[in-house]
Amino acid sequence: MRVLISGASVAGPVLAYWLHRYGFECTVLERAPALRKTGGHAVDLLHPAMDIIERMGLREEVLAKTTGTESLTLEREGSTPIDIDISRILGPASENHAEVMRDDLGEIFYDATRAHVEYVFGDSIATLEQHPTHVHVTFDHGDPRDFDLVIGADGLHSNTRRIVFGDESQFAHFIGGYLSVLTVPNHLDLSKRMVSLAAPGRTVGLYSADRADDARAIFLFRSENRLDYHHRDTDRQKELLRAAFADIGWEVPRLLAELDHTPAFYFDEITQLRMDHWSRGRVGLVGDAAYSPGPAIGGSTSLAVVGAYVLAGELATAWPDHERGFTAYERELADYVERSRTFARRMAKQLIPDTAGKVWLLAQVTRLVGSLPAGVARVLSRLDTGGLRVHDEVRLKDYPALIGPRG
Ligand SMILES: Cc1cc2nc3c(=O)[nH]c(=O)nc-3n(C[C@H](O)[C@H](O)[C@H](O)COP(=O)(O)OP(=O)(O)OC[C@H]3O[C@@H](n4cnc5c(N)ncnc54)[C@H](O)[C@@H]3O)c2cc1C
Repeated sequence: MRVLISGASVAGPVLAYWLHRYGFECTVLERAPALRKTGGHAVDLLHPAMDIIERMGLREEVLAKTTGTESLTLEREGSTPIDIDISRILGPASENHAEVMRDDLGEIFYDATRAHVEYVFGDSIATLEQHPTHVHVTFDHGDPRDFDLVIGADGLHSNTRRIVFGDESQFAHFIGGYLSVLTVPNHLDLSKRMVSLAAPGRTVGLYSADRADDARAIFLFRSENRLDYHHRDTDRQKELLRAAFADIGWEVPRLLAELDHTPAFYFDEITQLRMDHWSRGRVGLVGDAAYSPGPAIGGSTSLAVVGAYVLAGELATAWPDHERGFTAYERELADYVERSRTFARRMAKQLIPDTAGKVWLLAQVTRLVGSLPAGVARVLSRLDTGGLRVHDEVRLKDYPALIGPRG
């Protein structure tokens, strides 16, 4: 029962953790030369993911690494900023929530699995050849090896998916926006606070994390049509970002000036991944590689954690009938994935209001939630963030009969 998992971020190590507990031997392959420790961006762990993390015995480790963001200041050009306690928005929507930097989360999962799982860094799958009893894998650098199963946990632009299912363009559905994140100095000295400015079709956010010296600037903007650039051409991407925010004041000119110095720059379309099936033969997909509802808008980290847990449980339950396991995994997760997509499309609209009227409305709702007594605010913000309850409503299946002694 040898399983190769491509990708050592969120879904990959969680899958390896549970498969190991069910008696599988796992190898996790990561293209990066070492575990990323630069912080990345903040991600949300909502109720079902926190529940799984608790079952993994990692709740305290995760809570010790939360970003500590407690309040949001909504800036408005020419008007007074509005402050709001974030728990007034998230509290009613998810009772069990933690925000952590993705690389911290990856490190926690890596530390929890490294003693029992083989990790190979700095390599990538080159070819996959499926046989009735195994998959023959060749790598860019290492020697060829055979595995019973191969799982792609290698993110939105999955290499495993490309090799087995073909070009990404068949599955990626553009939902009308772009996302960029850069690492910048924490010149506003932000601590426990995120500041954000919304203008028609454009939103900027700036936050830091406890224990971090720097900050992240996140830019979201709408575009009816797909922009013309190559995914490796960062100069062109920076040019597009500058053009999209050229007429915005506040901190934006200073943040855009950081484009010339930033040590970390990310730019991507906001797309949803939609596939008819998440496996073919002995190769399956998990997390963003299979069903990303869109980065930064749809609770995709929680979906990746839940997906990995369910895939491991269903494969182990059905073993050695992997096809039955993959089918059960799709059945178990389909509704959560579909609801996450709907929620993400709605969030994209709310996070990047397209007209001056909707920007005004966002400010009014924020102000109202911030100024009302807590109970009333909870009811009101439930109306607006009710979609987040998609995550809280997930009921996790138990696979207790599979779990042997931990070790
Ligand atoms: C800018 C940004 C902001 C985001 N904000 C949020 C948020 O606020 N809330 C939220 O819930 N989610 C957010 N997300 C999404 C979140 O990061 C992902 O949903 C989550 O990390 C998915 O985990 P994953 O393990 O499926 O994939 P990923 O985290 O993408 O990991 C894929 C891994 O595979 C590796 N890899 C890639 N190619 C190969 C290869 N050829 N061979 C081997 N390894 C490979 C990568 O290096 C990486 O380690 C955001 C994403 C981005 C990009």
